[in-house]
Amino acid sequence: MIIVMKSGVSQEQIDRVVRRLAEIGCEAHISVGQVRTVIGAIGDREIIQQQPWLAMPGVERAVPVLKPYKFVSREFQAEDTVIKVRNAQIGGGVFAPIAGPCAVETRDQLFETAEAVLDAGATILRGDAFKPRTSPFSFQGLAEDGLQLMAEAREEFGMPFVAEVLDPRDVDLVAGYADMLRIGTRNMANFALLSEVGRVHKPVQLKRGFTATIDEWLNAAEYIYKEGNHEVVLVERGIRTFETATRNTLDISAAPVIKHMSHLPVIIDPSHSSGRRHLVAPLARAAVAVGADGFIVDVHPAPETAQVDGDQALLPAEFAELMDQMRGLATALGVTI
Ligand code: PEP
Ligand code: MN
Repeated sequence: MIIVMKSGVSQEQIDRVVRRLAEIGCEAHISVGQVRTVIGAIGDREIIQQQPWLAMPGVERAVPVLKPYKFVSREFQAEDTVIKVRNAQIGGGVFAPIAGPCAVETRDQLFETAEAVLDAGATILRGDAFKPRTSPFSFQGLAEDGLQLMAEAREEFGMPFVAEVLDPRDVDLVAGYADMLRIGTRNMANFALLSEVGRVHKPVQLKRGFTATIDEWLNAAEYIYKEGNHEVVLVERGIRTFETATRNTLDISAAPVIKHMSHLPVIIDPSHSSGRRHLVAPLARAAVAVGADGFIVDVHPAPETAQVDGDQALLPAEFAELMDQMRGLATALGVTI
């Protein structure tokens, strides 16, 4: 059961609900969001359901939840969550084009890419300062210098940015610069990182683990949500299958499946799933057709020189062409882009 408190609830009213749960032998999991406090009641379902929760001051509604994930389920919240990243929006009928380099390499590389993706219509810039690499000897990112460059690009172009955080110890550092955090596929089940990101008040992208089921992914989102950060965007980025023609297999069905099961926005990463430049545009176009709330695409002005993921980066002109196609599709589907 989830007990949703009214906005403007007092601490005393919250404490009363928590005390009542303790009296009936149940545990309370409190999640203080920016708008609402919600209390997850854990214990004997029958006993919890018998309580007249609505009679308690400050309680708005009490929602029985049957799924293993509670807060992120449609049962808990019927309306779609809409996320604002400064002047950009994800969800609520708005398709968010997110683009930029996989990694920040140099000021010139970043600024050239940022200007190009902004001109083409992207609303959020991507660019990582911490890179999760398969080999410890590969380029690991510019760390804080990279975040500083991203912040300068935000100033110059007026675009908010998203950056990956790899380590719970770096959450405050990355959140101090970025407008939105990202947890990568390799860290989807890093529960310490999920909880830490749950404690900051910045929207977060949670990538699907490349071997994770949708249930596991939603449970990972629950770790963030339950700490009080309710601004979670799910990113489908491909899963590992027997197929080798692509880097991973984009599970395009994940978007409508998530829409059915959860109120959180879901976006598609056609770059990291396919790993091949010529596949990015077709998969990106599919994102809007299946009802996803956006995409995140790698763009690089000289992919052959890229330190990371050059094989999948679109050239700025290719991204601009894709955006033209996206606008046509969005109009046909009644979606704002
Ligand atoms: C990325 O987006 O740069 C990235 C590393 O993606 P993933 O975690 O999906 O591999
Ligand atoms: Mn990458």
